Amino acid sequence: MATINTNYQKLASGYLFPEIARRTGIWQKNHPGIPVLRLGIGNTTEALPPAVCLAMKQKIDELSDRSTYTGYGDEQGDTYLREALVAYYQRYNVQLESTEFFVSDGAKSDAANIQDLFGSDNVVAIQDPAYPVYVDSNVVGGRTGLFNPERGCYDGFVYLSSTEENGFIPVPPSEKVDLIYLCSPNNPTGSVATHAQLKAFVDYALEHKSVIIFDSAYSEYITEEGYPHSIYEVEGAKRCAIEINSFSKFSGFTGVRLGWTIVPKELACENAESGVLNAMWNRRQCTFFNGASNIAQRGGYAALVGEGYAQSRALVAYYLENASIIREGLKRVGLTVYGGVNSPYIWAKTPNGMNSWDFFDLLLENCHVVVTPGSGFGPAGNQFVRVSSYGHREQVVQAMRQIEENLKL
Ligand code: PLP
Repeated sequence: MATINTNYQKLASGYLFPEIARRTGIWQKNHPGIPVLRLGIGNTTEALPPAVCLAMKQKIDELSDRSTYTGYGDEQGDTYLREALVAYYQRYNVQLESTEFFVSDGAKSDAANIQDLFGSDNVVAIQDPAYPVYVDSNVVGGRTGLFNPERGCYDGFVYLSSTEENGFIPVPPSEKVDLIYLCSPNNPTGSVATHAQLKAFVDYALEHKSVIIFDSAYSEYITEEGYPHSIYEVEGAKRCAIEINSFSKFSGFTGVRLGWTIVPKELACENAESGVLNAMWNRRQCTFFNGASNIAQRGGYAALVGEGYAQSRALVAYYLENASIIREGLKRVGLTVYGGVNSPYIWAKTPNGMNSWDFFDLLLENCHVVVTPGSGFGPAGNQFVRVSSYGHREQVVQAMRQIEENLKL
């Protein structure tokens, strides 16, 4: 008799983006012919860098000729790509080995799968608000109790509140936790952790034999000096942190699919000495995953070097310019805004203590602009909305015009 994993039944209903789509769909049905401008989902819209396209086309040519055809690639990802990633990290004075990199089909699946390495009795700390996959994967993995609708929280998680008071970067928990999810630059708040703030978490993790899962999918958006691009810039982090990153927001690979995870050989935890977690992740990936597309990997390599890197940086700069237009526009209408400087996301405070879904509805109704309600990322997001810069410039400018003309606070 088969039975289901009943942890799925604990998942809170109404996943954020389907609910946004549902409300937007109803509005559009009731207002035919009126275009809606979407600054909600963090999906890229600009074309891939030309050097990336060229590299992928060349790989397709090689695949179409039996003398240059290749099938399954190297374990952990093509070696030339992992070596390029080693060189990429050397920019930040981080020395890693290519065998510490695991190339994947993206950061989201890695962020979900990585919890496989850890026992179901581990206590998990989550930044609140957070990118939903960290929460849901651990609910399914059996590390929580039930969802408490009144508090908007799962029993059993330790929530690290990101608030205006702490600049949206929490301090380490006062109690002992085993796994800590951190994301910097942060989705959704757009905040970025300083070296000292990350060091506090690294020190905590070393002291408690905890493991940090550090999501740096937006590291290329750090424009101001002095912020770490990788947690391994902090002394000791290799002993206590796994880092996950992606080509999605750096080089427009949201549809192409490519990411990487670093499990350092030095990483250890309560019942695993150095080397064990690296070997376990190798075993997991080699057994459950057959590697990322070789076409995507060739494109990823092109994004890391020479012209392709410059073009990827230009793509990031384009979205950051959008972010600046949004940020300044929202400020002009009198909203309090955060983020949007080292991040593609602007975290805007709702006016007059409104809750985030009411403000979502107001912006849709009066300005015909879709944003993301902050409460969808956790209870601390309840009086915020996330505004995404991943639109075409003309749409971003038009959306801001509509907000400036029609939003009366
Ligand atoms: N991590 C964060 C913090 C994200 O915001 C996103 C996408 O929005 C991802 C990971 C997903 O990256 P990928 O497209 O590589 O799965």
